[in-house]
Amino acid sequence: MEPHKVLVLNRSFEPLHVCDMRRAIILLFTGRAERVEDTADLIRSPSVAWVIPCVIRLQRYIQRPPTQTLSFNKKNILKRDGHTCQYCGRNGSERMTIDHVVPRYLGGKTIWENVVSACRSCNTRKGNRTPQQAGMRLPRNPSRPFSALYLTIMAQSARHLHVWQKYLPAGAVRSLAGNGHDKEVHPCNGDGQSLSRLS
Ligand SMILES: [Zn+2]
Repeated sequence: MEPHKVLVLNRSFEPLHVCDMRRAIILLFTGRAERVEDTADLIRSPSVAWVIPCVIRLQRYIQRPPTQTLSFNKKNILKRDGHTCQYCGRNGSERMTIDHVVPRYLGGKTIWENVVSACRSCNTRKGNRTPQQAGMRLPRNPSRPFSALYLTIMAQSARHLHVWQKYLPAGAVRSLAGNGHDKEVHPCNGDGQSLSRLS
């Protein structure tokens, strides 16, 4: 089962980071955080059962770490797209390739708005064509992630996105491309197209 991830909000309700369930329960147990949203699941010890939280808020205001730079690279493109083929919806973890929606051969640029993760078989099938020319559907247009912080948070949102999105800026939710498909786990073959400018 996919491990529970918990969105941690600052005292000001701004999202800070994501932690695992155990860390969140320790923060609650020691009074350093309060529950904001719960899941319907329980974690049990021999004597106690705890409701697993989904969103918690720190009791003390934490100075935000300096803003990280959002790097344009294959790792972050895959993160934005949830390691999911944007054409067929298969999840291929790190073995996804990068596809230029409008091929470079037709003047397509290597920018956030023109690259998506694709499994090797979709990438090969599409070849040097646009999705329209290849008769393939791209359910959503790729866009630049809102920020490095939100790229990291959104990449871990998975099944909690419907709850977390209340606490995230609208732009951060829109820029996530990996959730448009059902999460079918299917190992795809492929070791990535040559993307020297991206690596
Ligand atoms: Zn595919």
